[in-house]
Amino acid sequence: MSDDTVIDPEVPPSGTGCVECEESGGWWFHLRRCAACGHIGCCDSSPSQHALHHAMDQRHPVVRSFEPGEDWFWDYATNDYLDGPTLAPPDAHPLDQPAPGPAGRVPAEWRRQLH
Ligand SMILES: [Zn+2]
Ligand SMILES: [Zn+2]
Repeated sequence: MSDDTVIDPEVPPSGTGCVECEESGGWWFHLRRCAACGHIGCCDSSPSQHALHHAMDQRHPVVRSFEPGEDWFWDYATNDYLDGPTLAPPDAHPLDQPAPGPAGRVPAEWRRQLH
């Protein structure tokens, strides 16, 4: 993939949870998948907004929802939705993984910590 690729349909997702939250022991509300490199990050409503930070830091502006049943793309460069291709599976995190997640790390007052 070249440096200016924003969508690479061949790259599988990095895992089933936010990369940085898994490392730090954090939690997320919803998950987003980087369309360029497969990085899974937490959404803009999540406490740490790792998908947004990844998009800015890596200049990978396009994300796709990683929530079951959602197939929209978002472009942080234009702040608008985008039509994108089918990406390498899986399309979403496992159905038995809760949102917010991951199980066991979500505080009782999680709604008050959303953006
Ligand atoms: Zn995160
Ligand atoms: Zn990326």
